[in-house]
Amino acid sequence: MAVSENIRILLSQLPPSVRLIAVSKTMPVYDILEAYNAGQRIFGENRVQEILNKKDQLPSDIEWHLIGHLQTNKVRSVIPYVRMIHSVDTEKLIRLIDSESARIMRKTDCLLQIHIASEETKSGFLFNDLSELLSSSDILKLKNVNILGVMGMATFTSDQDQIREEFRRLAEYFRTLKSKYFNAHPYFSEISMGMSGDYKIAIEEGSTLIRIGSLIFGERN
Ligand SMILES: *Cc1c(COP(=O)(O)O)cnc(C)c1O
Repeated sequence: MAVSENIRILLSQLPPSVRLIAVSKTMPVYDILEAYNAGQRIFGENRVQEILNKKDQLPSDIEWHLIGHLQTNKVRSVIPYVRMIHSVDTEKLIRLIDSESARIMRKTDCLLQIHIASEETKSGFLFNDLSELLSSSDILKLKNVNILGVMGMATFTSDQDQIREEFRRLAEYFRTLKSKYFNAHPYFSEISMGMSGDYKIAIEEGSTLIRIGSLIFGERN
């Protein structure tokens, strides 16, 4: 089915509290343009280089969201072009995003990626480490990172109950962080969870940002 039709179907299912991120990694510019022409403005990529390659060939009002692991040596090159970084998972990265954003007089919107899956491979903070970091450091005082919420990826499994349990845990982490550390920050409001296979569960568990690739653009090679 056509990309534009897929976008329309998805958008018609979303409650107003949920925004759609069209995950366009590996997809050619003409597919992205078709989604754009159907009204989609937020696109997610998991490699810095793909954002840098695609941005100049596409309309400038696209919001690029980085959803994949960010290496520290790529921070400087992507900061000018990225609207939100979902995959912030180390203290070092937070500090670097802050300093590189300050260097070009910007503030960068970020989400803290938290490990919720049972697989070892999915990156992210362990919740206790993150909580410790927020209570014992000056991270919350950094001027050029806006920490807007959390992001997580469920285990790759067909067990719907397990996926639901993991998303529910992420939403609990979000609420705990909000009440402990972000009480004075009304903009701490985002939970990025849900992909093509599990977005319905994610929405039921409180997602505000779903990251959908293959359901829009088809399977990747
Ligand atoms: C690829 C990717 C997605 C989208 O995956 P689909 O299953 O194709 O919807 C979402 N989030 C992250 C972090 C990804 O890398």
